[in-house]
Amino acid sequence: MTTHYDLIAIGGGSAGLSVAERGALYGKKCAVIEPCPLGGTCVNKGCVPKKIMWNAAHLNHMSHLAKDYGLKVEQNGLDWQILITKRQQYIQGINDWYINYLADSNIDHIKGFAQFVDQKTVVVDGKQYSADHIVIGVGGEPVRPDVPGAEHGITSDGFFELQEHPKRVVVVGAGYIAVELAGMLNELGSEVSILLRGQHILSRFDSILRETLTEEMLNSGINIMSCIQLSAIEKNQQGKLTLTGSAGLSISDVDQVIWAVGRKPLSDNLNIGVTGVEVDTQGFIPTDDYQNTNVAGIYAVGDVTGRAALTPVAIAAGRRLADRLFNNQTERKLDYNNIPTVVFSHPPIGTIGLTEDEARQQHGDAVKTYQTHFTPMFYAPSEHGQKTAMKLICVGAQEKIIGCHIIGLGVDEMLQGFAVAIRMGATKKDFDDTVAIHPTSGEELVTMR
Ligand code: NDP
Repeated sequence: MTTHYDLIAIGGGSAGLSVAERGALYGKKCAVIEPCPLGGTCVNKGCVPKKIMWNAAHLNHMSHLAKDYGLKVEQNGLDWQILITKRQQYIQGINDWYINYLADSNIDHIKGFAQFVDQKTVVVDGKQYSADHIVIGVGGEPVRPDVPGAEHGITSDGFFELQEHPKRVVVVGAGYIAVELAGMLNELGSEVSILLRGQHILSRFDSILRETLTEEMLNSGINIMSCIQLSAIEKNQQGKLTLTGSAGLSISDVDQVIWAVGRKPLSDNLNIGVTGVEVDTQGFIPTDDYQNTNVAGIYAVGDVTGRAALTPVAIAAGRRLADRLFNNQTERKLDYNNIPTVVFSHPPIGTIGLTEDEARQQHGDAVKTYQTHFTPMFYAPSEHGQKTAMKLICVGAQEKIIGCHIIGLGVDEMLQGFAVAIRMGATKKDFDDTVAIHPTSGEELVTMR
């Protein structure tokens, strides 16, 4: 017998949960199919445990400054077990909350792996389920490069399974995950090297962010090695790793190598071929602006689409899809422009809109930028302050703000409000006309000359 639903979400992460939740709100019969704890990458192996680790690292950074404020704080090292136990307890609480939430919302939670039988039907552990609408929200997983000995390294998934504090770490990669893990491990007392295949970290970010973060990472003791091609990783009998590579690279006595070289979609095992849904060469499922795949009634949301792999994007797209399908909001869709995002580096980064390079390519001489560099007042009593840098990208006679790039203490909490203004079309004059809040770092964004 086949159980029929209005909507089935394959994947119990940000995408699947949000579309089913909104569908259920409209009185529709929905199910979420997920073999793992609910919450997906974000809750279990991404944003949430990462932020706990970042908080610990930030606290350690702050505690070193306490003496400059006259506070007698004793440094007694890090108890990794306490940190990860508390972290996992918090995550378990979220997993449990989701179970109750689905039950309270009349959403069926089907535990297991789904495979398509046809365009309207999936099978899970031998039982068939059909739906008028099937949403693929299966997310992705971290990849390892094709290097001999790659299996000796761990990915971000492995980082969240570490039972011991690694003392000597090499992070390979230059994107979000690489700089976040390198920064937090360094602040937590590990000796950290970061290996880049190119010249720079965060190559797709605005230069002010890249340059300031590079300077701060170097100041904090991280060893940045650029233009390196790794050739092998070997493990000795004591479990220590040796990395060799181009330019005579040889790093030995390493406790952990962490691959942070990108992620791939988990579309492989869905038996998707029977549906005729198009999958690109990398496994991403292309969608139109409305999350439709090329097959009517099958949609894709979140990281599996290859667009803006961010939790709030998946949530927003999932909710809008349900609004469109079940609440007659026929034009409802997510605007993928002007998505604000934060990199939890040390110091953190906030960014929205075009980089200066992108803006100049699109708008040429009509672009005007404003920027500032300063050390936040918080660090005034200390000799060890991290810099803050900010850049606004404006275009045209009205100086409409089309990009905002900030790095420094507190910017992670600063960007959200500015993102609202920028999405609404704020101009430089709107910023200038806004009374500053003093003394804060945020006031610099409305007082730039
Ligand atoms: P990214 O796409 O951000 O970065 C991947 C990096 O891997 C690039 O810098 C690339 O270098 C490098 N790389 C690729 N192949 C190799 C190789 N063979 N050797 C060395 N380096 C290599 O991917 P991440 O995995 O860091 O993150 C995935 C996505 O997850 C992000 O794009 C983001 O959307 C999301 N995310 C968001 C976070 C947040 O919101 N705070 C946190 C973490 C992840 P190069 O620059 O030279 O191309």
